[in-house]
Amino acid sequence: MSQAAVITAYNEPLEVRDIAPPKLEKGGMICRVDAATLCATDVKIWHGAIDYGPILPYIPGHETASIVEEIDGERSDILGEPLKPGDRVIVAYRFCGHCFHCTIGQQPNLCPNATRYGRVRADVHPYLLGGCAQQHYFPEGADVIRIPDEVSSALAASAACAFRTVMHGFERLGGIGSSEDVLIQGSGPLGLFATAVARDRGARRVFTIGAPAARLKVAKDMGADEICNIEEFNRQQRKEWLLDMTSGRGPDVVVQCVGAEAVGEGLDLVRRGGRFLSIGAGSGDQTIPGAIFTNKNLTLVGVLSGMAHHFYQALDFLATRKNTFPFDNFITGTYRLDQTTEALEAMAAYKEVKPVIYPNA
Ligand SMILES: [Zn+2]
Ligand SMILES: [Zn+2]
Repeated sequence: MSQAAVITAYNEPLEVRDIAPPKLEKGGMICRVDAATLCATDVKIWHGAIDYGPILPYIPGHETASIVEEIDGERSDILGEPLKPGDRVIVAYRFCGHCFHCTIGQQPNLCPNATRYGRVRADVHPYLLGGCAQQHYFPEGADVIRIPDEVSSALAASAACAFRTVMHGFERLGGIGSSEDVLIQGSGPLGLFATAVARDRGARRVFTIGAPAARLKVAKDMGADEICNIEEFNRQQRKEWLLDMTSGRGPDVVVQCVGAEAVGEGLDLVRRGGRFLSIGAGSGDQTIPGAIFTNKNLTLVGVLSGMAHHFYQALDFLATRKNTFPFDNFITGTYRLDQTTEALEAMAAYKEVKPVIYPNA
């Protein structure tokens, strides 16, 4: 039996349940969860703010670092190296490989038949598809990425959603010139990783807007030249602050890493002819001036999730830049499995950057 924190009703405390691991299908893999981090999306699903259909009861958590326990048959990682019990891994969603998006579009992140984790019924085979459990099942065909020795399981887990999406976003954005100023909207995990990547890609200056102060302090650690606390400065003041620093033009690149409510502000702030990258999801509608895209001659880029090579890039960045960026500052709180409710509440209250759950502690 595997203990799992299960969401049985939206907004209600989680139940810790015993769940029997599934019988392995050919190529299937069962892993022991070493660390599971939570993402803002986990909070939104728990709040019932994202409609994924009838998913209750489900095990939350789609950022999971785990240790291979058992594989039915042979299975290799994305570099072709055979996997064996004891290997420490993160695993991408399983894409179907034969739909329009997987084949013609070459964007399997849009696959409608994907097996995604942390939002799948726990009373239907294969039961264990969320990180907040002692074990996690990974179906045949899901790409497996080994975790470098230098990267802790807690940080590796955060690469399985937040950071891989940031890597995917910057890939779609293209290069950043050494004379380009970059504004990051948001100081949550997405914004903090984006701050580090913008710095690493050679931005002239990186500005990070967000809250609370503790997160903005981490933004400084991640290479932000200037920070702005939205709890202290209103939208007009933020605009003046940015125009002041950019000769009245606005930043060359804006990366929106918070909810959709920041899109309007970001489009207003980006300079004419600039680029706008939208990474942060969110709900609700926005009113945007109809001609802003044409009048400003903007390049707009959106990104959803990521593919195996983005997971790989995120882990590689954590390993190779560990002496430049103090990534451990991301891990702000640790929880046992029976404290998953508290972890979700702390995340919802912006008290954490990344809460990590150790289900086997
Ligand atoms: Zn996520
Ligand atoms: Zn597909």
